[in-house]
Amino acid sequence: MLAALLDLVLPQPCAGCGGTTAWCAACAAALARVALHPLGATRPDPAPDRFPRAAAAAAYSGPVRGALLAHKELGRLGLVQPLGRALAAAVACLDVPAGVVLVPVPSSAAVVRQRGHDHARRLAAAAARALADAGRAAAMLPLLAPARRVGDQAGLDARGRAANLAGAFRVARCVPPAGCVVVVDDVVTTGASLAEATRALAAAGIRVHGAATVAATVRWHGHGFPRTPVQ
Ligand SMILES: [Zn+2]
Repeated sequence: MLAALLDLVLPQPCAGCGGTTAWCAACAAALARVALHPLGATRPDPAPDRFPRAAAAAAYSGPVRGALLAHKELGRLGLVQPLGRALAAAVACLDVPAGVVLVPVPSSAAVVRQRGHDHARRLAAAAARALADAGRAAAMLPLLAPARRVGDQAGLDARGRAANLAGAFRVARCVPPAGCVVVVDDVVTTGASLAEATRALAAAGIRVHGAATVAATVRWHGHGFPRTPVQ
């Protein structure tokens, strides 16, 4: 909250390029292009067990990376709308029916307190709004919660991250979603979080249609899903 207020009164460097405008026209245009031309299918290599069919809007670099970090860590909440449009474009790559339900990957209460907001949940809500604005009914439903304390993922390799997150999530609400379920997050790296989210939902009898993220780190490769622009 404090970061959001400071955002209003203090000049901020551009989240994308460090320039003098808070979110410069060139970085805004770059992120808008991502929403029009999402990358599409993504899969870490190696992919963890239960990694779902997934799509990402962009590579995790440049203005996209800067905007995601500024939104998540610095509370630059004004970036959620363009990032949400990019996430919506990734969701659309999965060929979802109307009434898609976006389920964010959960963060621990301590992390949410520290950051002052739940970044994945906020992105999911913005993506649902962007899909609805584009005429595709969509909703955000925070079905997942942490099941236990998880160690820091930083510095762990793919196998370490998967082991660290095994059994880490649970379905927090017994609300059977009415539409097809897509798990969403800001970035896919090793795929451990998306795989664990898929496992937890499946364990509660909820079938996951796929997963979508704003960005994917370099370990991705396309599988030829349709790239449907959302605007
Ligand atoms: Zn910029």
